Amino acid sequence: MLVVMKAQATPEEIQAVCDHIVQLGFRPHPLPGAQRTAIGITGNQGEVNRGNLESLSGVAEVIRVSKAYKLASRDVKEEDTVVRLATGAVIGGRDLAVVAGPCSIESREQAFAIAEQVAAAGAQFFRGGAYKPRTSPYAFQGLGLEALKIMAEIRERFGLAIVTEALDSETLHLVAGWADVVQIGARNMQNFSLLKKAGQLRKPVLIKRGMSATMEEFLMAAEYVMSEGNYQVILCERGVRTFADHARNTLDLSIVPALRHVSHLPILVDPSHGTGRRDSVLPMARASIAAGADGVMVEVHDHPEKALSDGPQSIYPAQFSVMMQELEQIAPVVGRHLPRRVAATTAAAAE
Ligand code: PEP
Ligand code: MN
Repeated sequence: MLVVMKAQATPEEIQAVCDHIVQLGFRPHPLPGAQRTAIGITGNQGEVNRGNLESLSGVAEVIRVSKAYKLASRDVKEEDTVVRLATGAVIGGRDLAVVAGPCSIESREQAFAIAEQVAAAGAQFFRGGAYKPRTSPYAFQGLGLEALKIMAEIRERFGLAIVTEALDSETLHLVAGWADVVQIGARNMQNFSLLKKAGQLRKPVLIKRGMSATMEEFLMAAEYVMSEGNYQVILCERGVRTFADHARNTLDLSIVPALRHVSHLPILVDPSHGTGRRDSVLPMARASIAAGADGVMVEVHDHPEKALSDGPQSIYPAQFSVMMQELEQIAPVVGRHLPRRVAATTAAAAE
């Protein structure tokens, strides 16, 4: 159910409606829009008695949301969600977001060398795994806390917002304490207890699409986070499993316009995991922006042949620079703009 408030409804009237919803035993989710505030209601198994709600002061109408996902749906919030980071960077809206960095943080030297180059090319976000979801228990598992500390230093030094994965409930709060955006990986997209805990954070959460997840399942993962009161959710398409043998995964760009149609949440695309091939990353990054994504997340490594994870899909810093130039040119064609990190040249000049 959704309570649509009148455009001129006062904060007191909005609060009174929220209090009423709590009294009914449900959870209110006030979602301010450009024109009016809507209040989503969750926690109800069946229909909420709309009669009482409709008679409250400031209420324009009460409507039923028929989709399985509600808070993630455009029915509840028409305007695109824009996630704003403390560094000044944004995900969503007109500006494109570019997240770049190695698959794993391997050492301070490796991370700084890559961060410096992606910052100089204008990226606003740095990615790097501290806790890695590896298929083999014998493969590199990540540096953990040490990696989180390295990334915090990188934020300090280069002004980059940090995106990193939380693998489990045990380390979620630790990761959230150091990161700007908490990533939930493809393998955890239906880890409902982790999603709920991520919903209790007040930090943006980036959810990667599970490798066999339908669009509805993907949006229900977002709904889990939002239902706990965290509305700063970013969706990330990263490829799904198909019969294709030319790529690690099949990057499903057709989900971008489909998601855009039904959801207000920002959408990123990860062409690195989406293809698994260095030579496919730039073409698919270009295609992602052309398809209407709000940005891309790419793996960059200065010595990919020595990378401890995902070397074959990591692009070189020089390729990343080319990608930024290409995306900058494509952006205006689709009504977007690629902001370059303001301090990029200053940081380089200060060397
Ligand atoms: C990653 O981004 O490093 C990662 C492990 O991605 P995914 O969860 O999409 O496989
Ligand atoms: Mn990776």
